[in-house]
Amino acid sequence: MSLSFDPDKIRADAPHFIDGRRVADGDGAEIEVRRPSDLRVVTSIKAAGEETVDRAARSAVAALGESRWAGRNPRDRAAVLIRFADLVVRNVEELARLEAWSSTRLIAETVPRDVVRTAEIIRYYGEQADKIEGVLTTTAADATCMIVHEPYGVVGAIIPWNFPLINAAMKVAPALVAGNAVLLKPSELTPFSAVRLAELAVEAGLPAGLFNVLQGGGATGSAIVRHPAVGKVSFTGSTATGRRILEDAAAGTKPATLELGGKSPIVVLPDVRDRARLAGLIANAFTYNGGQVCTAGTRLIVHRAQADELIDRVAAIVATRRPGPTWDDTSSLSPIVSERQAARAESLLKGTVAAGATIRLGGRRHAGANAGIFLEPTVLEGVGPSSPGFLEEFFAPILAVYRYDDEEEAIALAYHPLYALAASLHTDDAAKAMALPRRIEAGFVWVNAHGRAPESTAPQGGFRGSGYGKDMGRAGLEAYLRQKTVWHSHSM
Ligand code: NAD
Repeated sequence: MSLSFDPDKIRADAPHFIDGRRVADGDGAEIEVRRPSDLRVVTSIKAAGEETVDRAARSAVAALGESRWAGRNPRDRAAVLIRFADLVVRNVEELARLEAWSSTRLIAETVPRDVVRTAEIIRYYGEQADKIEGVLTTTAADATCMIVHEPYGVVGAIIPWNFPLINAAMKVAPALVAGNAVLLKPSELTPFSAVRLAELAVEAGLPAGLFNVLQGGGATGSAIVRHPAVGKVSFTGSTATGRRILEDAAAGTKPATLELGGKSPIVVLPDVRDRARLAGLIANAFTYNGGQVCTAGTRLIVHRAQADELIDRVAAIVATRRPGPTWDDTSSLSPIVSERQAARAESLLKGTVAAGATIRLGGRRHAGANAGIFLEPTVLEGVGPSSPGFLEEFFAPILAVYRYDDEEEAIALAYHPLYALAASLHTDDAAKAMALPRRIEAGFVWVNAHGRAPESTAPQGGFRGSGYGKDMGRAGLEAYLRQKTVWHSHSM
């Protein structure tokens, strides 16, 4: 069955969502929103300024008080979240189309992946509601010391444009199930699906005011982080923005979880027998979503004797990627999200070549695919350690190749001076598969795979310049809970 759809049949606006209602007006700047596939303006948003953020924060505080959300039987919270997940599944077609229409996500992927994953994440956290347990510590007999977990109250969640629905679910679901209210700010480039998600949450029985969506860019995000009612910040985005968010959070002494950028290595040992599968994994690792993935594999570290053969295999696979609009189910290469992002990647590429790199494959825009911008899958050689293409994320389908002679050199090449988000190791040797991931500095290491984990149980998050704290898994729930010590003295 064809998944393709007519983009002109979709009508969507991107209001704020405050206190369970759509709110079109904002006191911030007006921002035009373009769909990436043809860069046509589809709406404009009136960003939330300080006043609108304050209104949403007040509504969240009031809703927490009136609904007694955090104090309810945890099965009530579970039931709401599980109904919410069911509604996401029931609305798969609408959500998948909305996401593909407005972002870089291909309809062939949003139906089976993004929407299904979104529902799974919400369901996984719903099921955690009554598994948040405290501890009794060891004390003398005349006292009891309990450690209990409680929500922060209002959480500020700020997300990027590359996986709008999944990124929203990864923050909103654990925050809500832990008993918090949320102010979610989607990217100003992809403001649509978050509003629909919030509406479905209310339809599932979530008290109005607990899930608010605020539209806008950096100024709106900053106002959310600085708002005194916001007790915890969870951010996914670039390292540069993460630093600014930390400054704002520090001023209010608020904790922040930061999921930032990456420059992830793909380390291939010479013993891998299934070269075709390996080449497929590598091709996907740097071209999936047009390379606009935080964990994209962008540095291929391969044994000198095998490099050419492997690159030829990868080149043959990426040559079959078909650039095309996200609403056409035969498209297999995503557009770059915006002219600005494409110009940034291209200027970085130019700087990398000027610093001595050579282009082995690609390097240009695909001509005539659509009005959107599609960059050819690109393979670089000779990207040195001081080159801009080594130091910064391209966020485009660009792979740099590094050749090594021995394993120690391969491990050393995997290190990056700023980023430590993800990495992958490819080997058929069971002992190396167990031992070497421990020597690769990254928050997430795949062995014989490269790409997002299929299960909600796996925490993800980086080290150093890639941030700290985790989304997903049990750690992703604990991020929205704070510990309280309660000491009972019962001496007679
Ligand atoms: P970005 O940092 O430009 O923006 C992210 C979000 O922050 C947007 O909603 C933006 O409006 C907001 N923002 C911008 N300035 C702000 C400020 N001063 N205060 C508060 N909010 C502000 O990132 P992007 O271009 O949207 O996304 C791409 C980046 O995200 C890449 O660096 C990528 O690696 C990273 N990313 C990381 C992960 C992860 O899990 N580690 C996942 C996806 C994307």
